[in-house]
Amino acid sequence: MTEFKKISEHVWIYPPDKNTFQPVIGAVITATQTVLIDAGNCHHHARAVISALGRLNAPPISHVVYTHHHWDHIFGGQIYHVPIVAHMVCEFRVIEYAKNPWSHAHVERVIHEIPALAPSFSALRDLMRDDWANFKIVFPSIVIRKKADFFPLDGVTLLIEHIGGAHADDSTLVTVVEDNLMFMADCFYPPPAHIAKPEDKPDVAMVRRLLDRNHAIYIDGHGGAFSASFWRTWADMQG
Ligand SMILES: [Zn+2]
Repeated sequence: MTEFKKISEHVWIYPPDKNTFQPVIGAVITATQTVLIDAGNCHHHARAVISALGRLNAPPISHVVYTHHHWDHIFGGQIYHVPIVAHMVCEFRVIEYAKNPWSHAHVERVIHEIPALAPSFSALRDLMRDDWANFKIVFPSIVIRKKADFFPLDGVTLLIEHIGGAHADDSTLVTVVEDNLMFMADCFYPPPAHIAKPEDKPDVAMVRRLLDRNHAIYIDGHGGAFSASFWRTWADMQG
């Protein structure tokens, strides 16, 4: 059984799993509410997150924040029945993304027609199996319309901020102000596989700019939670 790991006073993460394309799911836990950072890649992932929060005796989930529109971050959204918070660029991308004819047939077509997407879409096919009939993409209902805005919780403040970048132009940062911690999600990753060129690399300059904010901990979407000094060493090693 996978369990949440405590990262800071209010922040826990459900660890990622590369084999099943599960990104990091963050939980910001206050005295009365739990806010998730990303929804999970499918209903199974979302239900595993809910069970693990139950074992922590976490307070009820009040909101889910989407960091960007890619399927592995949002396809669990239908399970929680809570408002989704997102930046307006992400809202736009989610609505566009939902226009794809999501179904077993669509996923099979992508696997065969776009070889670069075969690994991730094969994972999606295997996760969803025959469950497409009940699937829906949940659109954000609390939309941040400034570049950055505070989202106050019970005693904890989130700063939700659009950053964009080559991986997804809707990439959104979530800073947990009191914990001096930032969810970077996938913002500095190279473009997705079907768009990436061989020379594409992580956006090290973007990571360095984020490190200039001097947070204690930075969490990426498919790696985990690491100290600022870890990320500085990582950036130096990228050259
Ligand atoms: Zn992504």
